[in-house]
Formats: sequence, structure tokens, C-alpha cells
Amino acid sequence: MRAYLPDYQLITPRSLAEALALLAREKGVWKPLAGGTDLMVLLEADQLPQKNYLNIWDLNELRGIEVREDRVTIGALTTYTEIQTNPVLRSEFPMLCQAASETGGLAIQNRGTLGGNIVNASPAADSPPALLAYNAELELVSLNGLRRVPYQGFHTGYKQLNISPDELLTRIRLPRKTKDLRHYYRKVGTRKAQAISKVCFAGVAGMDNKEIKDIRIALGSVAPIPLRCLKTEDALRGQRIAQPLLEIGKAELAREIAPITDIRSTKDYRLRVSLNLLEDFLMSLSAVAAER
Ligand SMILES: Cc1cc2nc3c(=O)[nH]c(=O)nc-3n(C[C@H](O)[C@H](O)[C@H](O)COP(=O)(O)OP(=O)(O)OC[C@H]3O[C@@H](n4cnc5c(N)ncnc54)[C@H](O)[C@@H]3O)c2cc1C
Repeated sequence: MRAYLPDYQLITPRSLAEALALLAREKGVWKPLAGGTDLMVLLEADQLPQKNYLNIWDLNELRGIEVREDRVTIGALTTYTEIQTNPVLRSEFPMLCQAASETGGLAIQNRGTLGGNIVNASPAADSPPALLAYNAELELVSLNGLRRVPYQGFHTGYKQLNISPDELLTRIRLPRKTKDLRHYYRKVGTRKAQAISKVCFAGVAGMDNKEIKDIRIALGSVAPIPLRCLKTEDALRGQRIAQPLLEIGKAELAREIAPITDIRSTKDYRLRVSLNLLEDFLMSLSAVAAER
């Protein structure tokens, strides 16, 4: 059942300053609308209680992919299509490009934004695990100024974020420290395309022969928030890849994640798939080590 449209108000600010002024003047009254691909689904289902929207789509200040020596900065309004076609992102952040290419279909990829995917705060979203594994940082702006926060820790609970109603997410920063890392990203869903994840896994690792020098692992759809698995990383870092280590890593991951049964999958399936993906990731590292 579609919502009654005349109940809703949409304003298009001409600049970031104008948008921030409105968000500050009537705090909590206005909600940003970017690509609208999450919000419009709720509108169609009449599940959009908030009535006032700020159309931020035209704010150029939130667009563009900027490449600096030490980082890549992605505007919050960057679409999945733009992510996939950026040469630096393709070569240095392939997991983010893969997540973008496996998100929805072409229409969603042309309209859905990275900022919207983050602030929508779904634990099943596909780009957050890649962003967590890449140690992303977020820029949040309000009339009070700019805040930079690590993406890890931004999700404080189910659909809860460290963002105030008068703030906009403006940019996502990725440190360019991926050159010697091995990247592993898998989305497991009902179909190859147009499916929400049952489990989503992102891992990067730096190897020194068979020893894991550095490792970062994040999963989606296995907890109330996109989850960076720090304890599992600690159990694996500095160790040589061998069968006992696979078992140690899997046991730690099983303790760290908290999958549930819902309409998309079961707790048991999600747990099994998560452990299988960790094993596959570690085996892929061992194959790389063997080639050297
Ligand atoms: C058919 C379909 C398939 C989909 N498939 C996938 C999929 O495979 N994987 C996946 O992860 N998602 C999927 N989605 C969900 C959606 O497309 C993504 O989450 C998308 O990135 C949302 O971006 P948006 O710009 O459209 O967000 P919007 O709908 O405009 O906004 C989403 C939320 O973010 C807030 N917001 C947006 N931008 C900002 C900002 N800059 N600052 C502060 N708040 C902001 C809004 O207020 C709102 O709460 C799908 C959706 C549809 C309809």
C-alpha cells in the first residue's frame, strides 16, 4: 500500500550551506533524500513515518572521487556505477568495486549512493564490509563544523549510527595502503543478481611467505551491524597458514558473529557459510604464499 503523497514535503536546497542551515534550524524535522532507492521502497510500502525530506541529489559538494597521494576520497553521492568505473578504485579497492557491481541491478547502480548505503544502516548492506576491511573514515558536516570518524564504530547498534540529525555524511576516505594486500570479497545471496545478502564477507591480508603479517575481516548479515571481526583477526595475525590455524580462526569467528534466522536465511546456514568463507579466504592466502 503506497503512502499518501500530499502528506509529504520535499525541498531542494541550492547549496550545502543552505541544506545545513535547514537541518540545524529544524533539527530532526528534515531527513536527507539522496538516490532514494531505500526511501522510495518504504514510501511504496507506506512505512515512511517522517514527512519532510531534503533532496540532496543536486549538491555538488557531495560528489566526485578525489585521488591524493595517501588517500582516495569519495563523495557521499557517488553512485555504484561511478565507483565501478573509477580506475584507481578498480585497481586499489577491488572489493568496493565488486560490492558495487553486485548491488541491485543497473538502475539501482545508477541511482543508489555509497553515502545512502552507509546511513541506511542495514546490517545486510554490501559495501560496509569492504569499507570496514579498508579502514574507511567518514566525514560528517553540520553548521558546527566537520567531524572525521573511523567507519569502524560508526554503527552503534541495529540501525543506530554516530550521526546527529543536523549532520550530513559528505565524504568517505580510503587510505591508499592496499598495494601489497590480497583482497577477498564474497556476497552469498539467493541469486547472482538482485538479491540481498544472506552473508557478505570481505577480507584483506598481507603475507610474508606463509605467515599472515596483517589481516582485516568484516562481515555483513551476521550481526545487528556490519561487523569487523577483530578477535578473529587477532587469532590469525602473525601465524602461519596450516590446518590447525583454519580451525582456530573458524572457532573464533563462530564466537564473534551472531547470525539470526529471518526471511532471507537461517542462523545455521549463515554460520556455516561464514566459516566456509573464512576457510576459503585463508586457503586463497596459502595458495598465493605457495606461488612465491
Ligand atoms: C531493487 C533494489 C535492490 C537493492 N539491492 C541492494 C543490494 O544488493 N545491496 C545493498 O547493499 N543495497 C541494495 N539496495 C538498497 C539501496 O539501493 C542502497 O542501500 C543504496 O546505496 C541507498 O542509497 P540511496 O542514495 O538511494 O539512499 P536513500 O534512499 O536516498 O537514503 C537512504 C538513507 O540514508 C540517508 N542518507 C542518504 N544520504 C545521506 C547523506 N549524505 N547524509 C546523511 N544521510 C543520508 C537517508 O536519509 C536515508 O535514511 C537495493 C534497493 C533496491 C530498491
